[in-house]
Amino acid sequence: MDLSDLLTDIVATMASAEDRGQVASYIPELAKVDAAQFGIAIATADGRVRTGGDADSGFSIQSISKVFALTLALGKVGDQLWDRVGREPSGNAFNSIVQLEQEQGIPRNPFINAGAIVVSDVNLGGHQPRVAIGEMLRFVRYLTGEDDIIINEDVATSETATGFRNMALANYMRAFGNVRHPVDLVLGSYFHQCAIEMSCRQLALAGRYLMLDGRHPDGGRVVSPSRARRINALMLTCGHYDASGDFAFRVGIPGKSGVGGGILAIVPGRASIAVWSPGLNASGNSQLGTQALEMLARRTGWSVFSPPEEGD
Ligand code: GLN
Repeated sequence: MDLSDLLTDIVATMASAEDRGQVASYIPELAKVDAAQFGIAIATADGRVRTGGDADSGFSIQSISKVFALTLALGKVGDQLWDRVGREPSGNAFNSIVQLEQEQGIPRNPFINAGAIVVSDVNLGGHQPRVAIGEMLRFVRYLTGEDDIIINEDVATSETATGFRNMALANYMRAFGNVRHPVDLVLGSYFHQCAIEMSCRQLALAGRYLMLDGRHPDGGRVVSPSRARRINALMLTCGHYDASGDFAFRVGIPGKSGVGGGILAIVPGRASIAVWSPGLNASGNSQLGTQALEMLARRTGWSVFSPPEEGD
């Protein structure tokens, strides 16, 4: 199977799709994005990158940043992180508050908003938000090898002005002592990390350490093999919120979505894949991005539940 031909097929199929979902509107700046766009990029373990459609257009990575933030937080506090954040799917929407009261302010996992806000609190580590944000930008630039990755300040400002649910989540967890810095600093950091802008090509490059068992393609180590596997496990079980089960069922690959319409998906040992189409389904995950990954997994046989091929 030729991957470039497959990408051409996927781009053509997505171009003619009628139901493209709805662009996120609760962050006003994201509502301005043209829903007709679709991009895909695949970085494979042999070092090649193949792209299709709008793969070089920048988009707001939003919750996909939670994967990189989790990686940094584990580097700072290791397994102590799990005293403050769980590792179970929530079965609730990404911005839900309902479990927090019953579970004493400990979010179910690091990929729902509440969990990512605790992770941001850990990453602040007593510093000002610009220090934590600078560290995050350096990290994604190191992972991609590209220095032009930036934060879209308009998106960060837009979410700061309207992020009332996140403010509620952060204040509520502060009451339980699970957010330790002032809420405006934690959210300042969180909103800016969500506003990082990357293209599909850059995002596929950034995910390579999770395909390579924790190694940077330049040979350095980003995380240990066991940590890379655990981050992938969390992406599979929690990366699509209350649709994580459905994503695992349909695609069978660890994936993390964002309300900007991007999805990063990892096929361990084989590929780091980024797709982007701004229209979302009812669970806040890219409608066409999910369909594209389903088509790709079916045609390549790349589900993590597939038996190894001969010679593997
Ligand atoms: N910044 C968004 C929020 O906190 C991220 C949500 C997402 O991408 N699912 O609401």
